[in-house]
Parts: sequence; C-alpha cells; structure tokens
Amino acid sequence: MSRQGYEVIEAGEVREWSDEADVVIVGLGCAGVSAAIEAREAGADVLVLERASGGGGVTAMAAGHVYLGGGTRVQKAVGVEDTVEDMITYLMMNTPEPDEAKIRLYCEQSVDHFNWLVDHGVPFNDTMYKGKEVLQMTDECLIWSGNEEVHPFREKAKPAPRGHKVAEVGHLGGAKMMELLIAKAEALGVRILYDAHVVQLVREGERIVGIRYRVFGEDRGFIRARKGVILAAGQFTENDELLEEFLPELLDEGYTRQFTPYDDGAGHQLGRSAGGVLKHMDGALVTAAFYPPESHIKGILVNKEGKRYVAEDSYHSRSSLFTTRQPDRTGWLILDEATYSADPPHYGAYPLVDAFETVEEMEAALGIPEGALQETMRRYNENAARGEDPEFKKGRKWLTPLDHPPYAALDASVGQATYMAFTLGGLDVSIDGEVLAEDGKPIPGLYAAGGCASNIAQDGTGYSSGTCIGESTFFGRRAGRHAAKSEGA
Ligand SMILES: Cc1cc2nc3c(=O)[nH]c(=O)nc-3n(C[C@H](O)[C@H](O)[C@H](O)COP(=O)(O)OP(=O)(O)OC[C@H]3O[C@@H](n4cnc5c(N)ncnc54)[C@H](O)[C@@H]3O)c2cc1C
Repeated sequence: MSRQGYEVIEAGEVREWSDEADVVIVGLGCAGVSAAIEAREAGADVLVLERASGGGGVTAMAAGHVYLGGGTRVQKAVGVEDTVEDMITYLMMNTPEPDEAKIRLYCEQSVDHFNWLVDHGVPFNDTMYKGKEVLQMTDECLIWSGNEEVHPFREKAKPAPRGHKVAEVGHLGGAKMMELLIAKAEALGVRILYDAHVVQLVREGERIVGIRYRVFGEDRGFIRARKGVILAAGQFTENDELLEEFLPELLDEGYTRQFTPYDDGAGHQLGRSAGGVLKHMDGALVTAAFYPPESHIKGILVNKEGKRYVAEDSYHSRSSLFTTRQPDRTGWLILDEATYSADPPHYGAYPLVDAFETVEEMEAALGIPEGALQETMRRYNENAARGEDPEFKKGRKWLTPLDHPPYAALDASVGQATYMAFTLGGLDVSIDGEVLAEDGKPIPGLYAAGGCASNIAQDGTGYSSGTCIGESTFFGRRAGRHAAKSEGA
C-alpha cells in the first residue's frame, strides 16, 4: 500500500517492549504538542516520537494565524464585536459537509482555547491589521482571514475578523508558537524522542496498544501505550501515491506544493492500516493570491468566455479555486490604469500578459470571443458606477468602473500564476479525536488530530486562514485529554 510500510502489526509478534507510556504521540507539530500538554496536565505519562531532529513540522512554516472568535481578548481590545452564533453560522455556511457538533463546540470554546494558548505561553498582541492582506508582516494580531465580509456570508453572519496571528514580526508566527509550546511541554515533563520515525501500530485484539519505530532507518523496536496512541503526523502533501489516489490534480506542475519532507501522510496510512477511514481527501488549500496590492481587488476576473466567475473580494483561496474550475483552468485579472499597480505581488505572482489601449484589442489578444469581454466590462462599469454588482455582489468599497485606459491583463491561469497548495483531508475522528472505523465506532486506543484528521477545514473555497492551526490545537487537546482519562488496556 505504501512506500514506507505503515501496516499494522499484531501484538503477538512483539517479543519485547523497549519503553512504555500512558499516551504515545506520533509527531510534534501543533496538534501533537497540544495533545501532549493536555494529556500530561491530566496526569498521564506522555511520550512523543518525532521523526525530524526537532519539533515544529509544517506548523513551523506557518504564518501562525489561528482562527478564533466569539469575543477573544484581542477582539474586545480592538473594538471588534463578535458572537459565538455568528461564528458558527459562518463556519457552517463555509464548510461543504459541516459536522455541526464539532463546529459548535469549536466556536463555543474558542475564547477558552485562545486563553489556553496564552496561558501556555503563546503571545498575541491586542492590535489589528486593517488592510486586506494574505499575511501581515507586522506583529499586529487580528486580521480578516476569510470570507466573512463577502457575499453570501456577510448577509447571514455578522462579519468579524477572526485570524489571530501569533505576536511575531514576519512570517514565522508558527515557528514561534511551536518553540514556546514545546518548551512548555518539556517543562511539564513530556518525554520527547527525536529522529524517531513511527512505522507501525501494534494491535492487540481490537485495541491499538503501541507503536514500532526506526531511527535513521534502523529498527528500534516497540513502545507500549497503556492508554492510547495519538496520530499527529501532519498532512500528505508530499506523498505522490496518496495524491494519485485522492487528489491527482495537485501532481500537476502548475501547483507548488508546500510541505516538509515528512508530510508523507504517515498518520493517514497508520490509521488506515488499523481500520480507520479517510475523509475529504480531495480537499486542499489551493491559492494564488492577486492581492496585495489592494487596488487589484477592484479589477475583475474573467474566463476564456469573457465572463466573470467569482466576487473578486473573496478570500484568496476562494477566488483561486474558482479559477481552477474555469475552462482550461484559465482566467485573467483585468485592470485599468487607475487600479493597476506595478507593486510586486507578494503572493500568487500573476504575470502581466500585456497592456492594451482598448478592451477590443485586449479581448482579441486573449482569444476571447468577440464582444464578450466588451459586454462584461460595459455591464460591470455601468453597475459599478452606481456602487452595485448584481451578478456577484462584490463589496461596495471595491467597486469602481474600469474605464481608464490602458488596460492590463494579468494571467490567473494554473501554470501561469503561482498556485500553492497543501492537503486538508484526514482520518474520520470523533469529537474527542478517536479514530472511527467503517462502522462509525471508535477503534480502541487510537486517536488522530491535526493534518492527519478531518475535523473542520475541508476545502479551499470556504477556508479561512487559521482554521488548520485552530482545529489542530483544539482537537489535539481533546484527543490528549480523552486518551489520558481513558481506562486503557
Ligand atoms: C506554508 C504554510 C503556511 C500555513 N499557514 C497557516 C496558518 O497561518 N494558519 C493555519 O491555521 N494553518 C496554516 N497552514 C496549515 C497548518 O500549518 C497545518 O495544517 C498544521 O500546522 C498541521 O499541524 P500538525 O501538527 O497536524 O502537523 P505538523 O505541524 O506538520 O506536525 C506533524 C509532525 O509529525 C512528524 N511526523 C510525520 N510522520 C511521522 C512519523 N511517521 N513518525 C514520527 N513523526 C512523524 C513530522 O515530522 C512533523 O513534525 C499553513 C501551511 C503551510 C504549508
């Protein structure tokens, strides 16, 4: 099934256990460290095995946005009003197959979870970044990190910014979070083995009772888990075989996959070998952002037929995914002289096709059927002049007629713009992180959290930055607590 092994092994084949712990955790990213801290604080002896020579995982590559709301300390400090119900409505609308119980709990306990992160050493400043950005390079905290202000979400749920960036200038908020949480886990007495690659789960009857691991390819034997094994081994973005099976589009050269060398879906494979079920494996965060500069949001995205296909003020992963669904995955961002900015696009990098004196000329050069783009722009400009967008209901502040030639066409197509991607699917788990079998029942002794579990984030159209770290830490904690309190073998 896989290049690494990862098949389950029966306990009868284990001659000797080299170590044991109440809770054994596979992987030291944000899910693993949160599970470890929570299990340790619940009184368990906790051992984490991390394949790399240090903790962090892909979390350490992250900007460090955490999606939290319902009235966090930061929201209150900067005067943002938010309610649990609005947050629930928003996440329910945004998620293709929402698990209401999980979303509800996540939102209801969001303020508590924010406080937990702070109490365990993760700093957030009481400030807000006001611009529309993919990632603020300042240490300002709160940012609009989703589609809250976008139609149809804004009409159903009162918009509030909920992206909380860890207090760190630049893009390494995730690394800072990991450094601080690992230090906390160590101070609490969590044991950590580095360079320890978990390759098999051990099963006794129905129950998972331990793991087998290797160090630099050499078998180091078995470790017994008295209460449970928690898989927190991250995403499968690096694993071509799993992508071929579930998400072949990401193997296209037009996508730049973002991963660490150990994002091979080990947790997915270990869990599946024990009878776990994989969910939403075709979901990915795929994005090629065309802002900043903000003025580009005032442009329009059109396909080969000269038609618009999304509200351009959508969150970048939403507009990007809509582009990937257009004929030949082709689209252009059309701007005029007033909205075009030569500022280097920080993300996405949409190459400039050319500048054109007239819309007719641009239409012909892009190979759009004669008259189609002219008609789209005529209608758009007419409505925009009245501050309206009946077709996609783009927010009023982004509406302005595009009527200052020359015009620019930037290429949004897959293969031209820089599309970045990472996977979102994972093991089906209960609200407490128990890995569920085909019949919907928990597999005794086995848990999963973070990138190798499926909880809230399912696809890019509804993704809000911060959801992954938010759910990984939140449900990681729940898995840690549940495992620590379970009766065990
Ligand atoms: C560039 C980038 C930026 C991002 N920014 C954000 C953001 O700002 N906010 C947000 O919410 N999400 C963000 N994400 C997504 C988010 O970072 C991840 O979903 C989240 O960090 C996953 O956490 P994790 O603990 O599950 O996995 P990881 O942090 O990857 O940790 C998994 C760990 O398991 C280890 N491991 C793997 N296999 C084994 C094995 N067999 N044995 C032992 N150890 C193993 C790995 O080495 C790794 O250390 C970003 C993703 C990328 C790629």
